[in-house]
Amino acid sequence: MNKGLLVIISGPAGSGKGTVIAELTKGRENEFRYSVSATTRKPRPTDVDGVTYRFMTREQFEVLIADGEMLEYAEYVDNYYGTPARPVYEALNDGKNVILEIETIGALKVKQKVPDAVMIMILPPDGKTLEARLRGRGTESDEVIIKRMRTAIGEVAKLDKYDYIVINDDGCAAKAAEDIYSILRAEKLKTGRNLHIRDDYFASEKKN
Ligand code: 5GP
Repeated sequence: MNKGLLVIISGPAGSGKGTVIAELTKGRENEFRYSVSATTRKPRPTDVDGVTYRFMTREQFEVLIADGEMLEYAEYVDNYYGTPARPVYEALNDGKNVILEIETIGALKVKQKVPDAVMIMILPPDGKTLEARLRGRGTESDEVIIKRMRTAIGEVAKLDKYDYIVINDDGCAAKAAEDIYSILRAEKLKTGRNLHIRDDYFASEKKN
């Protein structure tokens, strides 16, 4: 069976990547697995432990790092975030496309370990829209918003490291999701992922 694609999706807070990923995977649950990250940040009202994140203390997180259980991890706005490795490799071997919704430092670490991972950055159309979305969320203090805005500027600066950029305009999450689905369809057809075809191509003729 073909292995699934490892899909890294990054985007600053306010890029709407959660909504786009929900659109992308809707009705395609059989094709995709969402990697549930571990984090030390406090749950938001919409978070569900074990579904959006595995919430834990810094001590618990550091045990996972020490035990080598993380594919990658990074500190982002004063909290740890990381990807447990085992569920990712299991799902890939099972032929599922695995989505890692992670920030840029972790994304680059994954790309080093898994060079054929597909790196996609989702962005709002411009910085003004991004700031308005961050303020509109209303769940964070001014101090956190400023920190996230500063982090966002650093993340946008790294977009040259990504394979694809997808713009998520207001009200257009479904279009952004379809852009990503098109990217993944093309990625699946890349020569490097399909060299087994050459090896097997005349195999049945040779036998006769
Ligand atoms: P939030 O607190 O808004 O849920 O996430 C903050 C940032 O952490 C987002 O950019 C999100 O993509 C990133 N993030 C979530 N999980 C992981 C992870 O497992 N590893 C890394 N490196 N970043 C993550």
